[in-house]
Amino acid sequence: MTTVKIRGGGAAYAGPVLPLPPFEWLAPRSLDEAVRALAAAPDDTMLLGGGTDVLPNLKHGLHTPRRLIGLGKIDELGRIEVGADVRLGAGVTIDRLAREPRVRAWYPALAAAAESIASPQLRRMGTLGGNLCLDTRCGFYNQTAFWRGALGHCLKAEGTVCHVVPAGRRCVAALSADTPAPLIAYQAELELRSVRGTRTLPLADFYAGDGVHHHQRAPDEIVVAVRLPAPAPGLRSSYLKLRTRQAIDFPLLSVAAVVSAVSVRVVVGALGPRPRQVRLADGVAAARPLTPASIDAIASAAAAQCHPLANLGDEPWRAAMVAPTVRRALHALVASVTEA
Ligand SMILES: Cc1cc2nc3c(=O)[nH]c(=O)nc-3n(C[C@H](O)[C@H](O)[C@H](O)COP(=O)(O)OP(=O)(O)OC[C@H]3O[C@@H](n4cnc5c(N)ncnc54)[C@H](O)[C@@H]3O)c2cc1C
Ligand code: SF4
Repeated sequence: MTTVKIRGGGAAYAGPVLPLPPFEWLAPRSLDEAVRALAAAPDDTMLLGGGTDVLPNLKHGLHTPRRLIGLGKIDELGRIEVGADVRLGAGVTIDRLAREPRVRAWYPALAAAAESIASPQLRRMGTLGGNLCLDTRCGFYNQTAFWRGALGHCLKAEGTVCHVVPAGRRCVAALSADTPAPLIAYQAELELRSVRGTRTLPLADFYAGDGVHHHQRAPDEIVVAVRLPAPAPGLRSSYLKLRTRQAIDFPLLSVAAVVSAVSVRVVVGALGPRPRQVRLADGVAAARPLTPASIDAIASAAAAQCHPLANLGDEPWRAAMVAPTVRRALHALVASVTEA
């Protein structure tokens, strides 16, 4: 395993570019080597997939790990395997996810979500594992240390108040990753590995309602893969993302819809720390064919259950867009569902 000490910019640096802090860099070549290295100091180590979120965050002083473990040299994390289910390695890049013909054919909402992430360069670096474990984001947090210090910091880092919900005791920063909502709608499972063994859990149970500790990964665990049920005949899906620009922008709201002959699953993302699965009355979820009236009922349920906050700004606009976005995501499926 390669180990390098990175000196970082240091406190004396006063140039125009935000410097990295010092850290030790480990680059294991196998998963076994990686879990052992992580187990040696789990609370003091950060994992790095493509680094497209970790590195800006280190520069902003949001994390100060003593060690970074780069996962990019571990071949087994980059595999896509098709058997009774479909297993996507955590190291599969976002670009490959967007282009892979089987993903596009079987899980189009996932391919659309991947295709919408960041820019071509960032998609070639960024990984599925990094997207699923992406830190939560907030307009009061994803700022330089100087900016945050001027405001007096907040619950998520070095402070005692939340600027979004001042009376609140919990951070409500948003999970702004694009792939979790469609993967939850497809009922994906997550595979995690540590020196203690491998465990799987539904992706829907991975996320928690606290923006500081927003997922259930233990400090010594590595996300190794996502498992998707084989695509059922007639399954249709769509993904829509609301953002300020149509490129290089995180979602301000996202909607994944998966419709089969017997169920409708709608998952809304970029609200708070975890994606929200919209609860639907049995009669509404099972009604076929989808009609303008049943789509309206689903969109109204989503609007009643989803409440954007000021974490990502412009909450009145985002709230007003929940129902129309759900409606559009479902209308996009109507023709194909009726045919199936
Ligand atoms: C300008 C810009 C625009 C962006 N736009 C979007 C966007 O529109 N949508 C979006 O979803 N993202 C966006 N991103 C964020 C990021 O590029 C993607 O989310 C990317 O998929 C992250 O993957 P990564 O491998 O680079 O993650 P990393 O930065 O390497 O890691 C992210 C987090 O995941 C953890 N991690 C990584 N791999 C694993 C693993 N295997 N097991 C456990 N933990 C792991 C890291 O420790 C870290 O906490 C944007 C970033 C930038 C800079
Ligand atoms: S939601 Fe509140 S505590 Fe969390 S990052 Fe934003 S301001 Fe900080």
